[in-house]
Amino acid sequence: MIATLTVDCTLAQKAAILRFIEGYGLRVHVGEAGSTTVVSVIGDYEPGMAESIAALVGVASVSTEAPLYPFVAREARNAPTTVRVGEVVVGGPEIVVIAGPCSVESEGQIDRIASGVAKNGAVLLRGGAFKPRTSPYSFQGLGEEGLELLAAAREATGLGVVSECVAPEDVPLLNRYVDMLQVGSRNMQNFRLLSAVGEQPKPVLLKRGLMSTIEELLLAAEYIVGSGNPRVILCERGIRSFDTATRGILDISAVPVLKERTHLPVIIDPSHAAGRRSLVPSLAAAGIAAGADGLIIEVHDRPEEALSDGPQSLTLEGFAETMKTVSAIANALDRPVAHRHAIRST
Ligand code: PEP
Ligand code: MN
Repeated sequence: MIATLTVDCTLAQKAAILRFIEGYGLRVHVGEAGSTTVVSVIGDYEPGMAESIAALVGVASVSTEAPLYPFVAREARNAPTTVRVGEVVVGGPEIVVIAGPCSVESEGQIDRIASGVAKNGAVLLRGGAFKPRTSPYSFQGLGEEGLELLAAAREATGLGVVSECVAPEDVPLLNRYVDMLQVGSRNMQNFRLLSAVGEQPKPVLLKRGLMSTIEELLLAAEYIVGSGNPRVILCERGIRSFDTATRGILDISAVPVLKERTHLPVIIDPSHAAGRRSLVPSLAAAGIAAGADGLIIEVHDRPEEALSDGPQSLTLEGFAETMKTVSAIANALDRPVAHRHAIRST
């Protein structure tokens, strides 16, 4: 059930409304946007409760259509959520580009890539330190050393850093080093991990599972926001299909569908969807054209030597070229790509 409060609802009236609802053992989530306040009521309520709430002073309207995911539903807020990552804002007027290698491999590698992507329009740096690899024999990441190298690259470039957390017990460690914790596709329904990242304050990049529906993605986000962390960014990264021509199918329609259903920002990962570098520029362009708030792109200075996902990693030159196309589309949509000078001045 969702109650929209009147524009002139006073603080005392609002407090009385919340007390009334909580008095019945129900939880509330209050979303505020400008002069509009929306109260989501969570829990089983008695018949007649909607009418009782609608009759309270300060309530404008009540809708009893129970939202599946009251915290992240579009209706919970009247404006899109913006998520600050380090000094960058995702979900605002500007398109945000995150770039970097699949895995952090060495000091030289992450430093060269960080400065290369920073020069060409990335405002955040990605790099896996704990890698969820399909084969136990594949490179598993440098672990904490990788996080230290990422933090050093942040010092050198000013780029905020994003890295994946694969286990609930690693959350405090990731939290110490990164500006945003990534929950990867394979862990989208690791519910203890979702709650753990929801119980710490850093933003979370939640990637859609390989076989997950949009509803399941939103319910996964609901775990995080419901655990206390509203700073969630959703990422479409390709879903599994019968076709082996590409690594995944980039579900472009997920962007407008998510925009209809949730107030959370949405970004596109063209790299994991494509699986091949030649396809990445087109998918990146399509993502922005479809209304995504940003991109996360794998880039490597020597992709042929990469320890993971080399074939889908753009070279630094390829990244620079892709950024030209992406910027042109972003400008046409009146959503320019966020630039580094903006980082220090915000
Ligand atoms: C990654 O970002 O390197 C990664 C493992 O992504 P995904 O979880 O989407 O496969
Ligand atoms: Mn990867």
